[in-house]
Amino acid sequence: MFCSDLTFIASSNPIIYEGAEPIFIDSDYKTWNMDPDALEKAFEKYPEVKHVITVNLFGTPCDYDKIREICDRHNAVIIEDAAESLGANYKGRCAGTFGEISVISFNGNKIITGTEGGMLLTDDIDTAEKARKWSTQSRDCAPWYQHSETGYNYRMSNIVAGVIRGQIPYIGEHIAAKKRIYERYKEGFKDLPIQMQPVPDDCEPNYWLSCMTINPEAMCGQKLGDTEYTYKKESGKSCPMEILEAIKTINAEGRPLWKPMHLQKLFDCYDYITANGDVGSDLFTRGLCLPSDNKMTEAQQKAVIKVVCACFE
Ligand SMILES: *Cc1c(COP(=O)(O)O)cnc(C)c1O
Repeated sequence: MFCSDLTFIASSNPIIYEGAEPIFIDSDYKTWNMDPDALEKAFEKYPEVKHVITVNLFGTPCDYDKIREICDRHNAVIIEDAAESLGANYKGRCAGTFGEISVISFNGNKIITGTEGGMLLTDDIDTAEKARKWSTQSRDCAPWYQHSETGYNYRMSNIVAGVIRGQIPYIGEHIAAKKRIYERYKEGFKDLPIQMQPVPDDCEPNYWLSCMTINPEAMCGQKLGDTEYTYKKESGKSCPMEILEAIKTINAEGRPLWKPMHLQKLFDCYDYITANGDVGSDLFTRGLCLPSDNKMTEAQQKAVIKVVCACFE
């Protein structure tokens, strides 16, 4: 199965659960999502592949016109990992409607949360019924407990469902608040060698996390090991690990970007297809997620911006 490379590992672990083999597809700079050119190259090398897992990274949808055209031409289905992107749009169409199967997460850190749980979306009745059956221990249609295939306990409790449904009416408000946070960072960093995650044409992200990269020429020397790092402070330059440390000193929390799957030890033995260098590794090296909680006040955000600016002095 082809899978977006720059993502949280939850996108690719299910490939392993199913005994399939992941092949990771690089991102492009325009969207930070699956690069259609790399996907095309992957189909040239592996024409037998029939499943493509796309990810709408940090709430920004992929370039679905291009990805859909490529997948249709190769008779492959799209499984859309829309976990981070509830409420986002691409050409006026909602994230979560681009795959034959799409998934949304209600994990504790998402834009709407039930602390845990998620949602599977599909237009196909047979798929929906199959998923429902598997998720409830695969009970056959019979008056007693009759089973002919393995099932799972992937139900959502009614309490969690209630907590989630209570938040649905506020999704617009949540997105507006997230967007204000993104815009304030963008304005606050306009004189620094920083780019915010781009908002592609025809996309309205949900701005789940505000993410940034440092321009290559403004990167100080930073070495990232498997579990440790070092960096060398240079005047006028900085690096993600310096900024994350600095943010922490004022009790705010940033995070590195997702570390690409092809750099994970677990996936050492699987192929990785790129079309324009190694975009995922480059974004990971130069990028980070800024504090993005809706409860953050404007004053708190200003303090974060000030601390980031100081890193470049
Ligand atoms: C959060 C997340 C998931 C996992 O969602 P769970 O509901 O925690 O299983 C999957 N993919 C991406 C990209 C995520 O950010």
